[in-house]
Amino acid sequence: MKKTLYGVFPLCAAAALLLTGCGQETLSSETRANLLGTVITVSTYETISAEDYRAVFDVVADIDKRMSANSTDSELAAVNASSGIAPIAVSDDLYGLIQEACDFAAYSGGAFDPTVGAVLALWKQDGEFAVRPTDAEIEEKRALVNYRNVIFEDGTIFLPKAGMRLDLGGIAKGYACDQALACLQERGITSALLDFGGNIYAAGTRPNGDPWRIGVTVPLAGESGQSVCALNVRDCSVVTSGGYQRYFTEDDTTYHHIIDPQTGYPAESGLLSVTILNQSSTQADALSTACFVLGLEDGMQLLESIEGSEGIFITADYTIYATSGLTGALTVTDDRFTLADESTK
Ligand code: ADP
Ligand code: MG
Repeated sequence: MKKTLYGVFPLCAAAALLLTGCGQETLSSETRANLLGTVITVSTYETISAEDYRAVFDVVADIDKRMSANSTDSELAAVNASSGIAPIAVSDDLYGLIQEACDFAAYSGGAFDPTVGAVLALWKQDGEFAVRPTDAEIEEKRALVNYRNVIFEDGTIFLPKAGMRLDLGGIAKGYACDQALACLQERGITSALLDFGGNIYAAGTRPNGDPWRIGVTVPLAGESGQSVCALNVRDCSVVTSGGYQRYFTEDDTTYHHIIDPQTGYPAESGLLSVTILNQSSTQADALSTACFVLGLEDGMQLLESIEGSEGIFITADYTIYATSGLTGALTVTDDRFTLADESTK
């Protein structure tokens, strides 16, 4: 019996860039950079007003302003600055998102953990993943990572140990994507493609009723733009986590930005990327980060146990594995990669 986390969702489909080629249909889109540390694009087939676009981007900007772990004046930063000192009152949605993040931490056995912020801060410089800390520094901060220690009380959040830090970078883009979609829907726009830096929402269908065709990005550094496989989706979020986009190299070693909370170092689970499909982008975002840390076997097991979640795992040997709900749905578009035989899973 599959576990239902947030309701029962119909099967939807996978990944990270839109494949165009839609006949006479024309996509209009507007892009704003520098929100949530990425490029945000909202595309629609119908012409929507500048006011509608502004409303959507305002929703995202507001979330960014309050939930950023990198800025010093966000609500989240206030919680972090008061660790070991005092509880801080936060807005209802931030309170709810931190709770949801901690729930995912529990579901994933701690592979996803929003309190990994203390360790992440060591690796970041001006918000970018850029410096290699010493082993001793990592060891010291790792002791502060544990989602179970977050104290929720009457709209306040308290991080009881001095130096504890929350970082919602693994879930906030998905949350913002869900909220942006809700804003569009309130304005009567039901067909749209939202791309928040690889965090996709394919809302509704194309005007002729066909599903959106979405491609999963080739998970290799320096090759962005091409797809490795593709599939049709409607009303579904498609979120990819990988080590190929945000990383730095030092002394011939490459360090990417998804940290294994158990070690404090970039996760080494043998995966190039994980793509999650779910009707909740928040859920897809947290699960993509969790599964990247967990690796193929444990990640698959987690997904197969959660109703409404499907996933595509690409391993370091260029093999593509999909959850059972995606059987027959994927088309491989890069012949360097092979779809795993169902019987070998
Ligand atoms: P991206 O932000 O590139 O789309 P992810 O959704 O996987 O990719 O999120 C990665 C971000 O999540 C990191 O930049 C960091 O802020 C945060 N993070 C890294 N490791 C973890 C982890 N194990 N659990 C929770 N958040 C993490
Ligand atoms: Mg994520």
